[in-house]
Amino acid sequence: MIQAKGYAAQNAETDLAPWEFQRRDVGPHDIQIEILYCGVCHSDLHQIKNDWFPGIFPMVPGHEIVGRIVQVGNHVNKFRIGDLAGVGCMVDSCQVCENCQAGLEQYCAEGNTQTYNNLDRSGVPTYGGYSNTIVVREEFVLHISDQLPLAATAPLLCAGITTYSPLRHWKVGKGHKLAVLGLGGLGHMAVKFGVAFGAEVTVLSTSPNKEAAAKALGAHHFVVTTDESQLKAVKGAFDFILDTVSAEHDMDLYLSLLKTSGTQICVGVPSKPYAIQPFSLLGGRKSIAGSGIGGIAETQEMLDFCAAHGIVSDIELIDIKDITQAYERMLKGDVRYRFVIDMATL
Ligand code: NAP
Ligand code: ZN
Repeated sequence: MIQAKGYAAQNAETDLAPWEFQRRDVGPHDIQIEILYCGVCHSDLHQIKNDWFPGIFPMVPGHEIVGRIVQVGNHVNKFRIGDLAGVGCMVDSCQVCENCQAGLEQYCAEGNTQTYNNLDRSGVPTYGGYSNTIVVREEFVLHISDQLPLAATAPLLCAGITTYSPLRHWKVGKGHKLAVLGLGGLGHMAVKFGVAFGAEVTVLSTSPNKEAAAKALGAHHFVVTTDESQLKAVKGAFDFILDTVSAEHDMDLYLSLLKTSGTQICVGVPSKPYAIQPFSLLGGRKSIAGSGIGGIAETQEMLDFCAAHGIVSDIELIDIKDITQAYERMLKGDVRYRFVIDMATL
């Protein structure tokens, strides 16, 4: 076994604290990565607090991982020791079902194996990226460009792919009016991709103080959703709303901002079910859709797109001992726009 250290929550009530644990030895198809940076996703906070379902504890969160390869198995041929590498939200899947075969491992018929807070296919808990090292099978490791700032690349592994994938799937681009609901980690990446794909992008935000930053990210318009008159001006305005909100919100209100036949794509995961009036949908043939991260091939496509277009996340680099304050700020929507842990501080 490989000795590892990281930060873990021992249960849903306590803060994260240093913890030592073991990773499996590197098998023939495995890669060991020395983790250099890990992004802080709102999903980490949801999961250590049991927001969605009872978690597996101790829990080492983190699924926006970048680092350098330090060991490869005998049968690994796509990576070499010394390469930069990334790992996102999944570390395994059945590889044979229709979805896996189609490059949609995130929708694996057996369920994908999540990077943390899950059991691997031999029943051992998985531990995430708030740690110094990880062992992952080759198929779930991504190539990372050395042309981009590495720390700012980490959030692409979740916030990046989770917004890139639905925008590609629904072919959002030129001629479309796209609203991004919530300007946090996912939202700011959605703005960058929406703009890069040629859409006219509006940020819908509860935080008036994010306007200048939203425009600097490339957004064409900014609407404060708590301001009645600003909201009224965008009734029926959008082809798509990409909903990244992490908490309960008024779905009927936002659906009213869609054009006839418009689609609200939900990627945020509040802890309670959505409440929606049927008339909000049928009075305008509107759709509600959802999207989960993205497949491995598409994640690599997104990383290559970012390298070609110089796209990275806007980050605040933090010391791992400041993780609890980072979560507190995240809960208040006070992130510009992704915290990334510098693993040298572990
Ligand atoms: P985040 O950085 O905290 O951003 C969420 C943003 O939503 C906030 O910055 C805030 O933006 C807005 N917001 C928060 N509470 C709100 C409320 N009550 N009403 C309206 N707006 C509110 O979180 P994130 O890391 O981007 O993650 C967002 C959500 O996506 C989380 O639920 C996360 O678990 C989920 N997620 C899903 C996937 C997937 O595969 N589908 C992948 C990753 C994450 P403003 O200040 O602009 O209002
Ligand atoms: Zn995430």
